[in-house]
Amino acid sequence: MIGRKIGIMGGTFDPIHYGHLMLAEQIRTSFHLDEIIFIPVGKPPHKAHFNSANQVDRYEMAVLATGNNSFFKVSDIETKRTETTYTIDTIRLLKKTLPDCDELYFITGADAILLLDSWKNYEELVKMVRFVAATRPGIDLERLNDKVSELTIKYGAVIDVCYIPALAISSTDIRRRVNEEKSIRYLLPESVEAYIESKGLYKEHHDQYFEVL
Ligand code: ATP
Ligand code: MG
Repeated sequence: MIGRKIGIMGGTFDPIHYGHLMLAEQIRTSFHLDEIIFIPVGKPPHKAHFNSANQVDRYEMAVLATGNNSFFKVSDIETKRTETTYTIDTIRLLKKTLPDCDELYFITGADAILLLDSWKNYEELVKMVRFVAATRPGIDLERLNDKVSELTIKYGAVIDVCYIPALAISSTDIRRRVNEEKSIRYLLPESVEAYIESKGLYKEHHDQYFEVL
């Protein structure tokens, strides 16, 4: 039996938006993946901002956003934990639960690849999964290609650079818009917008926003 090819879409998803969904769908079809598993980060090691949603809300929003695509699944493997989670540990656990999977594709935007060498045990991680690095507005292609070459030569990483439609949407911008009472319609699915509204997320007042791209 030929094993399945599975895409992993990791992210804080605070909140999930059309940039994430479009990226996952583009890579699913380009690489003929059987399934994409969205994994909202538990307690992100890299990020701490004052106006963030909790793990349950981020997971719920991912479930709402992906419900109408039968190829998309959401895993609570990270959000159900209370301690800081690292991708390498998640991938190890996940591989045990997916014995019929031949290849794991870790899907990222270009900004995530530029920071890959700050991830725990990244030298080992790049040997366990293939990476897909998608273009993202604001991220310099030359820098991305340099980083990809470096990771390939030094650690034997397999990283495909993919060109996807440019959507200059970020969760940081969405949180800021909610906070400033600006519209977020058409930036993310209506179901997620309604969830944000009903739970009163991202309303906390603060003078300054830090870009956490
Ligand atoms: P934040 O502003 O809070 O960092 P974000 O919009 O960057 O949020 P993340 O949850 O950090 O979203 O991103 C998850 C993954 O999706 C990352 O690999 C990121 O590069 C990618 N990604 C997010 N938005 C886009 C986009 N508009 N185009 C391409 N890739 C994206
Ligand atoms: Mg980000």
